[in-house]
Amino acid sequence: MQPISGIHHITAIASDPQANVDFYHKVLGQRLVKTTVNFDDPGTYHLYYGDETGSPGTIMTFFPWPHARRGVVGNGEIGASAYAIGAGSVGYWQERLQQYGVHTGDVETRFGAEVITLRDPDGMALELVVNDAVHTPRYWAGGPVPEEHALRGFFGVTLFESRAAPTGQLLTGQMGYRLVDQEGDRWRYRADSSAGGGIVDVLERPGIGFGRMGAGSVHHVAFRARHDAEELEYQAAIRAAGFDVTPVRDRQYFHSIYWREPGGVLFEIATDPPGFTWDESVADLGTGLKLPPWLEDRRGELLGVLPVLQV
Ligand code: ZN
Repeated sequence: MQPISGIHHITAIASDPQANVDFYHKVLGQRLVKTTVNFDDPGTYHLYYGDETGSPGTIMTFFPWPHARRGVVGNGEIGASAYAIGAGSVGYWQERLQQYGVHTGDVETRFGAEVITLRDPDGMALELVVNDAVHTPRYWAGGPVPEEHALRGFFGVTLFESRAAPTGQLLTGQMGYRLVDQEGDRWRYRADSSAGGGIVDVLERPGIGFGRMGAGSVHHVAFRARHDAEELEYQAAIRAAGFDVTPVRDRQYFHSIYWREPGGVLFEIATDPPGFTWDESVADLGTGLKLPPWLEDRRGELLGVLPVLQV
């Protein structure tokens, strides 16, 4: 079995969909690559952002519920999602975020790399981590950020855990990650790959309670499988290690399995194919409301319910 090469996507909960588009699309310069609905709640959106084509390792997705209560971050959750930026882009991003009224903390140094911390409109923790080894798979030239400063896709995620070791055993035992560093209560695991999104930090926070999901909470993180057969190998290995892993589910743009890691964070493995261009051309990505076949006959009704988004 090949080691996992990194993060496929991160899915989070938002409140106002327009504020979500304005921030990720206009401020962070991520392309809205797919506009679809929450398959379990089709009267609400599922919005996908990424590079030009929504390459695995760049995809941030949201379920925006306009009246969602704000979540409370606790253990058993993703505490922060990090994008990679180039070494020469720290000043650019500080200035750009300030220009849009986004507060940033002081630039921190973590494992020797500069980190800008910020929050999205729902209070979700984001980080911009300097890392010149990560490159944007498909820079979106139609976006508002010049190529030299564009977000390069994910750097990684930070898991908040009451105990770090059991999660580390899953990452190294069944997923092919290696423990590469430790700083205080933070353990750093790296995927065996040069692809972006290869970092999982486990932050041990004993005695802190579980969070409560809501707007601004990360719902889950998905890791990459190259194809369906590989996903089934991971499924078998994770099941053999004693985890309750789901059957494969068709998410239209990838095929997914889910399970909870020992600390409670929802993990997913998603296949790279088919990707976002099977039902829309690269030029048209994100511009039309895409529905799965079983919801197509409700298109008129759903268009009447979903708020119109200004992109
Ligand atoms: Zn997912």
